[in-house]
Amino acid sequence: MDWMERVRNLRQWSQNGARAPHKPLLMLYALGRFQQDADAALRFTSVEGDLARLLEDFGPNRKTSAAYPFHHLTSDGVWEVRTDTGSGSPGSAVGELRSSGAAGRLAPGLRAALSSEPALLGRLAHLLLDSHFPPSLHPDITAAVGLDLEAGDGTAVLLGEVAKETRRRNAELRAKVLVAYEYRCAFCGFSGSIGHTPVGLEAAHVRWWAFDGPDHLANGLCLCSLHHKLFDQGVLGLSEQRRIMVSREFIGDGRAARGQVHDLSGQPLMGPQPGSDPVHPEHIAWHTRQVFRGEPRLAA
Ligand SMILES: [Zn+2]
Repeated sequence: MDWMERVRNLRQWSQNGARAPHKPLLMLYALGRFQQDADAALRFTSVEGDLARLLEDFGPNRKTSAAYPFHHLTSDGVWEVRTDTGSGSPGSAVGELRSSGAAGRLAPGLRAALSSEPALLGRLAHLLLDSHFPPSLHPDITAAVGLDLEAGDGTAVLLGEVAKETRRRNAELRAKVLVAYEYRCAFCGFSGSIGHTPVGLEAAHVRWWAFDGPDHLANGLCLCSLHHKLFDQGVLGLSEQRRIMVSREFIGDGRAARGQVHDLSGQPLMGPQPGSDPVHPEHIAWHTRQVFRGEPRLAA
């Protein structure tokens, strides 16, 4: 069984670039729990809270029940669900999953493969992260699902194949974007270097690479590390007129949060310099639909 292939093909309901990270997030969660206890079954009632939080924090801004991936992942051959009576998953209704004592765990063949080949866990986790999320969010997700990819089983040195390719492409985009935006964060204007090396500045994809976002200047932004993270988390977004939007769901206290986040609301992007492609409206529209969280705050 090629488990990498199975996980790569996790059936998506997504169309037209819509994000559907429910199965990948459950899979990452299951890998994290497997790392802690390879035999434990995850009772729906004890993990539904964790799964709901994951979906809320790392999923698109749409309500989805944790029951959905918990049941539907069984059809991909990587996950099994059993009830108190020993039967299979009772379906995706929350009430049924609760009352039947449904408990899920990785499929027996996959558990055996993970036990006999310790590096497989890291490869699967990297594949899931690379295929569904931008690199800036990977550390947050692994922490949230309790995955330790630095574990002493050799997984840390094994980068996913997508990750290697992503790094090469990112380096190319980064070079273009930094020049176009004149080595400044397009949101706050931050600029800094040590010696000849710019620091704290990154090239962000507006439409994520994992969702067909091209490595073109028209899909890139030069952002400081903080604003890159907040943009990928959906705290910050862009209006059709390329003005900065701040999510109403973001709550920040103190002068720094006001200055670095709230005060950006309604401000125009800085750059790119004349003659360089600005961000294309189509990519902005994707980010607004799939990443930006809820409604924009009104400028003060
Ligand atoms: Zn910035």
